[in-house]
Amino acid sequence: MGFMSQTHVSMASQLIREWTGIQQFPSATQTKLLELLGKLKQDNVSTLTILVMGKGGVGKSSTVNSLIGERVVAVSAFQSEGSRPVMVSRSRAGFTLNIIDTPGLVEGGYVNDQAVEIIKRFLLNKTIDVLLYVDRLDAYRVDNLDRQVVRAITDSFGKGIWQRGVVVLTHAQLSPPDGLSYDEFFSRRSEALVKVVRLGARMKKQDSQGSLPVVLVENSGRCNKNESDEKILPNGTAWIPNLVKTIREVVSNGSKGILVDKKLIEGPNPNDRGKILIPFILAFQYFFVVKRIQRAIKNDIAKESKPMWELTSNSILSVN
Ligand code: GDP
Ligand code: MG
Repeated sequence: MGFMSQTHVSMASQLIREWTGIQQFPSATQTKLLELLGKLKQDNVSTLTILVMGKGGVGKSSTVNSLIGERVVAVSAFQSEGSRPVMVSRSRAGFTLNIIDTPGLVEGGYVNDQAVEIIKRFLLNKTIDVLLYVDRLDAYRVDNLDRQVVRAITDSFGKGIWQRGVVVLTHAQLSPPDGLSYDEFFSRRSEALVKVVRLGARMKKQDSQGSLPVVLVENSGRCNKNESDEKILPNGTAWIPNLVKTIREVVSNGSKGILVDKKLIEGPNPNDRGKILIPFILAFQYFFVVKRIQRAIKNDIAKESKPMWELTSNSILSVN
């Protein structure tokens, strides 16, 4: 029975459908996307696996649907997300896109470790090419919870995941409050988020300075469109090609994708690899340093407590 269900799962995961959703896009978007896929193939990238993570309700599933061009995953205005990750695979002209939608990591104000474990196990033997870290543009602050979510991601996959990271801000079609211009509002929000990611990922000043791209997304059906019928941001950028362009830039930035192997899942926090030696060093010191000193002291004590004649005979013997 266990074997049967295993086979079923692996067969199901090999079922890759033709990416027909791409035809739903206006032709201007299709042309740009096919051009980007062509460039990826030139870079020898024929498969892309994109992991989508973030808190609940921020628009992760909606963004997956927007990218694929089909309603493939359930979207919900209320916290009733499934508890399992879902991988959607589509192929087009020899190129395969895998997008993994995940449930939000937060429950009752904390990161749910079990949800994190489920996601890690789901990813076993997969390589994460890109991480889309999703949040809303129209949120006015970042807090400790955001840092916790970033930390959970970092502790699961290692700091290196952020070299492959893109911050995605949904609900991009908004009028900024307090007389701020759109660009000002966007740059403040993205600065705050990038800062929280750098903190949560324990990045040092010199780590990938300013290389975490922030991309805007508007999943709403009421998103404004340009004369070619493409969904655009308030600044006029067609956001779907722009998101894919950024993804391509991240894939070709010289960093490595993250292979989620058994070691990464079951081993210690990947950021603490060196620390694993600490107990061995302590044990070494104990046996070779502390023990020796103890023995020396014991010997001294033994010598002192021995009667004078024994000590003399011993010393005579050892001289010989
Ligand atoms: P998830 O929990 O992160 O997967 O979020 P969902 O994709 O399920 O979206 C949560 C709610 O936000 C749904 O009601 C969506 O319709 C809505 N939503 C998601 N993205 C956007 C967006 O970019 N703009 C607007 N206006 N609504 C969005
Ligand atoms: Mg969802």
